[in-house]
Amino acid sequence: MSTETRFLLSQNDLPKFWYNINADSGIAPTPVLHPGTLQPVTPDFLSVLFPMELILQEISSERYIQIPEEVREIYKLWRPTPLMRAVRLEKALGTPAHIYYKYEGASPVGSHKPNTAIPQAFYNKISGTKAMTTETGAGQWGTALSMACNFFDMALEVYMVKVSYNQKPYRRIYMETFGTQVFASPTNRTNYGRALLAQDPENSGSLGIAISEAVEVAATSGGTKKYGLGSVLNHVLLHQTVIGEESLKQMDMAGEYPDVVIGCTGGGSNFGGIAFPFLRENLKNGKRTRLLAVEPAATPSLTKGVYAFDYGDTAKMAPVMKMHTLGHGFMPPEIHAGGLRYHGMSPLVSALVNAGQIDALSVKQRATFEAAVQFTRAEGIIPAPESAHAIRAAIDEALDAKAKGEKRVILFNLSGHGHFDMVSYEKYLHNQLEDYEYPADAVAEAMKDLPHVTL
Ligand SMILES: *Cc1c(COP(=O)(O)O)cnc(C)c1O
Repeated sequence: MSTETRFLLSQNDLPKFWYNINADSGIAPTPVLHPGTLQPVTPDFLSVLFPMELILQEISSERYIQIPEEVREIYKLWRPTPLMRAVRLEKALGTPAHIYYKYEGASPVGSHKPNTAIPQAFYNKISGTKAMTTETGAGQWGTALSMACNFFDMALEVYMVKVSYNQKPYRRIYMETFGTQVFASPTNRTNYGRALLAQDPENSGSLGIAISEAVEVAATSGGTKKYGLGSVLNHVLLHQTVIGEESLKQMDMAGEYPDVVIGCTGGGSNFGGIAFPFLRENLKNGKRTRLLAVEPAATPSLTKGVYAFDYGDTAKMAPVMKMHTLGHGFMPPEIHAGGLRYHGMSPLVSALVNAGQIDALSVKQRATFEAAVQFTRAEGIIPAPESAHAIRAAIDEALDAKAKGEKRVILFNLSGHGHFDMVSYEKYLHNQLEDYEYPADAVAEAMKDLPHVTL
């Protein structure tokens, strides 16, 4: 009997609701603080940056939030995404484990990011926003929001981390094709960017810096421009839960249930998106799936950071949140998974790791690319370097199951394809990829500057 490898839902199965883990986690949300006063923010402060509908989602405790029909109509361009069983990878590993992956690289721009870009642009549009600003690291988020703003006829300014701007011209051109203006950050368009360039004209940028620039532009626009964030915030993780809701139905079609669900974590959104619906089943329906967040050894906020209040950006203009952080001043090494180069982590994922409901581990760059190439040779898809962190962990789970003679069911999120990451693959194939150790000294230095919060 041949084995089924593709589990496809019809468009009627597209979820009608996003799932809010805050309703079930039993963990009281921590307040978001004003970066100046370090006291809880009022919706007024946040409304400089975000439309009210998204602010309400950010603080909501409703279990299910309805997906607007306008958003579902656009989701149908690529959703529901396929769930695949990686039978050829299982054979190559000689493992009794069953390995499934949810393929978010099937979206038009090649990652899970449009799942939140579309609703963010939609809520901005209906509240009268004329233009949006954002940052991008590897370019995935900038491309997703470019598509979304273009669909809703809004302008977009993207502050792209300079090292990626130089390494990834094709991502920039992709954004420009949608009509977006893209700038290499730090720029001379903001007070913060000008100050950094005065200190060091060669500053190669970071996500934290690019966020500061995009926030500054929105905050000083007199209300015409709003800011969109591609990860970290509660409403972003909320929008991503369509991934896990579809996966639950598809695992059911496959007649199996995962023992472990794995996602890579930069700001936590693709991981939260696949994991939270499974966590609901753990909390409410007696399931016992292990949820595993995987991060780079070079930016290990969950495994080596502290769980504390910190700024979301480098210039201390963005709201302060309680999260796992390496310190807002931490400059991550230039690893090839640009989407994972962030000092902080989603407060939701952080709180759940802190409570022991989610596990975390870190993996090194070369071992990650080794897993990516092994996956490509078995399944044909070249994964994004970010997603390859989840593949590393999934392969290690499958090898562990083999060593123990266990039939384990593994599900991981393949958050994107790596078609724009060929330079990174070339470096790996030519043995030119560095392994970064945990940058303990840089983190220790950055930790000295955490805000002193007294609530
Ligand atoms: C942005 C990105 C990530 C990291 O962001 P999360 O919010 O942690 O999901 C992971 N994979 C891909 C393909 C990305 O584009």
